[in-house]
Amino acid sequence: MIVCMDLLAVEVASRCPLCGSAMEIVEDNTYVWFGCKRCLRYVKREKRELARRYVNYSVRLFNWRGLMEELYALYLS
Ligand SMILES: [Zn+2]
Repeated sequence: MIVCMDLLAVEVASRCPLCGSAMEIVEDNTYVWFGCKRCLRYVKREKRELARRYVNYSVRLFNWRGLMEELYALYLS
């Protein structure tokens, strides 16, 4: 369970496959958490690792869709 005092949390377009409510992304200093606050089910990935794979610094592009697909697949697994 996450207490979101000084965390950045955003709702995303994905729906929770278990309960149908909007899912959210929560970020702390080290991790990006993805999940459903109603089910209290979250998966996490290290931010540094995600940045390495989804941020292309040379063209200043962030592959949001790729990131979301990975987190969603992780949530379903
Ligand atoms: Zn849910």
